[in-house]
Amino acid sequence: MAQERKRVLIVGGGFGGLFTALELAGSADVTLVSEDDHFCFRPLLYEYFSGEVEAWHIAPDYKELFGNEINFVRGEAEEIDFKNRRAKISSRSEPLNYDALVLAVGGVTNFWDVKGAEEFALPFRTIADADRLRNQMVKALDKVSPTLAPQDAREKLTFAVVGGGASGVELATKMSDLLTDAFRRRGLKGEPHILLVEMSDRIVPGMGEDIREYVEKVLLKEHIDVNLQTKVLEVKPHGIVYEHNGKQTEIETVTTVWTAGVKVNPLIEKLDLPKDEHNLILVNPTLQVKDFDNVFALGDIAKLEEVAPILVGTAQIAFQESALLAKNIKAFLNGENLKTKQFEELGEAVSLGTKDGAVLVGGKVVGGFLARDARFALYTSRLPTWQHRIKVGASWFFGGTTPKPLQPLGIS
Ligand SMILES: Cc1cc2nc3c(=O)[nH]c(=O)nc-3n(C[C@H](O)[C@H](O)[C@H](O)COP(=O)(O)OP(=O)(O)OC[C@H]3O[C@@H](n4cnc5c(N)ncnc54)[C@H](O)[C@@H]3O)c2cc1C
Repeated sequence: MAQERKRVLIVGGGFGGLFTALELAGSADVTLVSEDDHFCFRPLLYEYFSGEVEAWHIAPDYKELFGNEINFVRGEAEEIDFKNRRAKISSRSEPLNYDALVLAVGGVTNFWDVKGAEEFALPFRTIADADRLRNQMVKALDKVSPTLAPQDAREKLTFAVVGGGASGVELATKMSDLLTDAFRRRGLKGEPHILLVEMSDRIVPGMGEDIREYVEKVLLKEHIDVNLQTKVLEVKPHGIVYEHNGKQTEIETVTTVWTAGVKVNPLIEKLDLPKDEHNLILVNPTLQVKDFDNVFALGDIAKLEEVAPILVGTAQIAFQESALLAKNIKAFLNGENLKTKQFEELGEAVSLGTKDGAVLVGGKVVGGFLARDARFALYTSRLPTWQHRIKVGASWFFGGTTPKPLQPLGIS
């Protein structure tokens, strides 16, 4: 009688979970559970927002990526019974059993308990978030008439982006380019007002000095209103209250986007596993959860002592960990020794609006259109499966990556 294949259950289909599943395909009975029916290649979410890429490019359906080799279950993992090796999934009456479990549920937006933030600020993590922001920008533009004085148009088209890390900078510059283009197309007077609010004394705090200098120049050129050492105290339906040098200011905004932090997924908070003070799961260098041989964790929810701080909470590390994790699951299921790996920094790349970008190549910063295109090429090579990469690469090569203007509602 043929021996039954061992069951690997992967919870979460982001960088960590998806790439682990793809590496394991065919070597075990692999099931991936995710709340969404599609992956999201977040480093290009800004380009989806600006219309430079399409949803299918960066958010392919799992079913399309998996074929028959990986089972996909859409649903939310609600509870895990480690003793009996099974997980309760929201969409299933029966739990899913496993021999090895991979936890890869990632993070969620951290609003830091700022008053009104969770209720009124938009997160920017998903395709739906990007669509919502774009719609709000179009609606706000539709209310502004070409006869309006420049100062009034600027006031009516004020947007706040909270968080001056790479995410906030990338988003603010895309918003600025899209809105500036819309001003020109619609014959509006003046320019939009994008407020970038950052609590520390510098933008892109995690990045090197050279790349920061380049980013600062672009922000200046784009007329982004950068507010450093500024703390948001409250988010209102159409405005924010912030504090700088002990002085409080309230400003009206069309909307406020929150890119100021990530915290561990609520599922992890309730699991009884060894964790650090930030609720990150403590894993061994083999990516096994400490004291749980058949449970593995990676990506934004895992704390691995050996990882350089710059890599923490990035797709770069989740992606690299997935390769090691898949190897170690195979070894674990076959009763072999598990391996460890030194993870590397794969480089820095930011998009800056729709025509610019900055990448670090051999310790030097390259900026401009060339950097924008290099970033696209780099990310094409990192998309999941070679079949998907070929389709997307061809689409970008033949169809281009031109942004979609913010057309009045009803015009596509
Ligand atoms: C806008 C944006 C841009 C970014 N750009 C970059 C970049 O340029 N470079 C970089 O290195 N990093 C970037 N990051 C960070 C990067 O996306 C994360 O570090 C990476 O996605 C972490 O991978 P992960 O597998 O841990 O989690 P995720 O990729 O977040 O995946 C988690 C998955 O689990 C699913 N899930 C959650 N809870 C459950 C549940 N209970 N049951 C089932 N499924 C569940 C989620 O829906 C999601 O699909 C960016 C992040 C954002 C938000």
